[in-house]
Amino acid sequence: MLHDNFPPGSVWLVGAGPGDPELLTRKAERLIATADVVFHDALVGAGVLDLIPAHAERISVGKRSGRHSKDQATIDALIVAAAKAGQRVVRLKGGDPAVFGRTAEEVAACTAAGVRVRICPGVTAASAATAAAGLSLTLRDGARQLTFVTAHARTGVPLDLDWQALASHATTLAIYMGRAAAGMVAQQLMARGRNPDTPVLVVVNASLPNERLIRGKLSSLAFLVETVGHQDPTILIVGEAVRPGDGRDGVSLNRQLPQRQPVAS
Ligand code: SAH
Repeated sequence: MLHDNFPPGSVWLVGAGPGDPELLTRKAERLIATADVVFHDALVGAGVLDLIPAHAERISVGKRSGRHSKDQATIDALIVAAAKAGQRVVRLKGGDPAVFGRTAEEVAACTAAGVRVRICPGVTAASAATAAAGLSLTLRDGARQLTFVTAHARTGVPLDLDWQALASHATTLAIYMGRAAAGMVAQQLMARGRNPDTPVLVVVNASLPNERLIRGKLSSLAFLVETVGHQDPTILIVGEAVRPGDGRDGVSLNRQLPQRQPVAS
């Protein structure tokens, strides 16, 4: 029974997936249904938030690039305080909690306070993005490495990444938080020898009704993201694995998917 593994006074860090509530794990759905309080990020999809039961308290601790509504120490303190007050706490995070999700800090805060904390994994944006395009993140021949990298650029601070390693031809790069730095990322990779013709796939709002796929080449990456809104979650995938199989190489393709049916609640 769920109550056996979600006692009052404990915390679950739960992966909400990329947005589509059908991409939640069954465990995530059960934990959400049992929570007394849910602390969630800005990126968690509306369809997922709809699953929070009416009796549970719902608290947005949303962070968006450049606009942090609560700092990490405050979030840690809120979670710990709710657990100490005897609540079943769900901390709902976009995608997989363990991918660029400050999970280590929250686990450490709970553990230091003597609060039991567990993690429920989720579908990460990179997986949702390639799935949307009908492509694979790896290829048996030609893309045997996969690197998750964040290119979140703080104003005036150069990105501290191992560009030489990222430029390797056989590596697929899944670049999170990379919209603003897209042009710089492309330049750095090409300067280290990555082929300018390397295919790229940009996915905006992966798995959501307003999902957008944009395809092109590394050399045009800055141009490809130009029309993407600042607030729209966007992932960049670079590498041979995302070469379109349909003969439209190099053509930028914007595809508006048909509206999905709303999920009955
Ligand atoms: N833990 C999350 C990532 C958090 S970092 C995960 O595993 O997916 C936030 C970044 O993830 C966004 O800036 C964007 O690059 C990416 N992202 C999250 N959801 C996305 C979505 N639905 N579509 C495209 N990119 C997404």
